[in-house]
Amino acid sequence: MNETTKYPINAQEGDLYKEIEVCGERFTLRYGYYEECDRVNPLCRPIPIYPDFLAMPLYTAQGVPFATEIQDACEHFKGKGKRDENSVCGECAHYKRGEDWIGLCECEARSAARSAERIVAKRE
Ligand code: SF4
Repeated sequence: MNETTKYPINAQEGDLYKEIEVCGERFTLRYGYYEECDRVNPLCRPIPIYPDFLAMPLYTAQGVPFATEIQDACEHFKGKGKRDENSVCGECAHYKRGEDWIGLCECEARSAARSAERIVAKRE
């Protein structure tokens, strides 16, 4: 079974996949395409689209960054092997599973960087 065969064959772009709540934050997940070329490829069907927390970071009320299991791994990746272009947060020891494919990054180095950003932002 590949990624697309486990979703309903009649799912259309924009259809609701599910609504979930992770650490007090609600997420509405819809079917769609990650790549424009998939939209015009007759072999591709809409799949659930997860938030892009790299493009639009989101934090819990405690300042912990959200991440998805399929998110490209950052420089703090702590996996079984070395980070490469296929490494994702779901393979990282800092990733804490939440609901579905949305969880938290509990990397202290990232939290420290975030705290430093906040201090700089307060000073400005
Ligand atoms: S879980 Fe956090 S530390 Fe690990 S790769 Fe993802 S963003 Fe980086």
